[in-house]
Formats: sequence, structure tokens, C-alpha cells
Amino acid sequence: MDNAIRQAVSMLKKCRKAVALTGAGVSTESGIPDFRSAGGLWSRFDPFEYATLGAFQRDPHRVWQMLKELLTLVECRPNRGHEALARLEEMGIVQGIITQNIDGLHQRAGSCQVVEFHGSMASFSCPVCGKMLPLAAVREMALPPLCTGCRSVLKPDVVFFDEQIPPKALLDTEELLCGVDLLLVVGTSCEVMPAALIPRQVLGQGGNLIEINLVPVLAGTARISLAGKFTEVMSAIVDQMAKS
Ligand SMILES: [Zn+2]
Repeated sequence: MDNAIRQAVSMLKKCRKAVALTGAGVSTESGIPDFRSAGGLWSRFDPFEYATLGAFQRDPHRVWQMLKELLTLVECRPNRGHEALARLEEMGIVQGIITQNIDGLHQRAGSCQVVEFHGSMASFSCPVCGKMLPLAAVREMALPPLCTGCRSVLKPDVVFFDEQIPPKALLDTEELLCGVDLLLVVGTSCEVMPAALIPRQVLGQGGNLIEINLVPVLAGTARISLAGKFTEVMSAIVDQMAKS
């Protein structure tokens, strides 16, 4: 493992531009179980009944039974791994993060360049009149929160299963991936489309992958697969970076 960490650090130091792609696995140690795991959110709420725009339009009150749980999850705190990734950005080693998570933990840990591929719980919008309210305002309201303009039920600005990735997120992703020759694939099994295409895009432009997963899934394509807990592997990388 030490050897693999040294190799990863050497690649990070030599590359032209490094970016991280993160997923559910970076938040589990903050107390947010992978939604798709046993005991995760989707084991209690069928996503096709609770996390589609169609379901929200039919019965927003019902969908808010699931969203209430999501609201409690975003109370969680960033972990040492989030902090280490923020530190790598501060050191000028990582240029930004593309995250599939909606919990805002990267930003709370201090990361600045974060593309939220699947939106976030940081704001809520009215599906009828478009009025937007920040999370802090929604926290003060009775649930489900109602639009202060037209009294319709508000929807968090997360991407539901039948929704497209927001054009701004796609554009920001393209911009961030431009010239990337090293992608850290962290805490994601790269199964959810279209985020799963990002590692392929970096490989296609001649870049390399370093994978950090509890159980590696990219052994065939990643130059280095670091198997282990997100907090431990990321801290080891930053420690090694500081030493060498
Ligand atoms: Zn409204």
C-alpha cells in the first residue's frame, strides 16, 4: 500500500492537470450510507416512486417523506477525506472536483472548484413559478416547504432519476475536464450514467486514472487502484505529498 501511495503521489506531482470524480463512497464515513446500499435511502424508498419528477408532480407530499430524510442527511459533517481533497486543491495539485453527491460536504470541507453533477440540497425551487429559496430558509419552514410566492410545494435542486443533468453542470464538467491528464476516481463504482462516461473521456484524451475505492472496480483501466477507506487513503496521500 505504501508503495502504491508513493506512486500515486508521484503521478499527482508530475501530471499537467488533475481532477477528482467523487461518489457516494466519500460520504459514507460522514454517516451517509450509499443510497443504493442495503440500508441506504433506496432500500426504504423506491427511487422510481420517490425520486422522479413524474412522482413529484403527481404527489409532492409523498415525495417529501423521502426528502425529509435527505434533509437530515445534509446535517452530516465532512470527514478527513473531504478535508484532504480540499487540501490537495489548496496545494495546487487538484484543480477541481466533479461530484455525484448532493450533500455539499466537499464545499463545507473547503473545496472551491466543485461541480455538482446531480445538483444539490443547497437550494430549492418552485416548479410552478421558478422562485428559488436557499436551504437555510427551507430549514425554518414547516415541511413540505411551500413557495413564498405561489404556495406550491418546493423541490430541491437535485437531479431526479427522470431528469437531465443541468446544462450548466455539463458545461462546467467539460471545462474542468479540458486538458486533464489525471483523474482521481474516488468512492464511486462508475455505474450511474452519464457520470460513468467521465473516466472514459479522460482515458480517451490520453489521461490516466487513479482509483480510490473500498473495493476497486477499475482494476483493468486504472493505472493505480488504492483499496481502502476514503479517509485513510486520502490522508496518506496528503501526508506523503507533504513529505516528498
Ligand atoms: Zn411558486
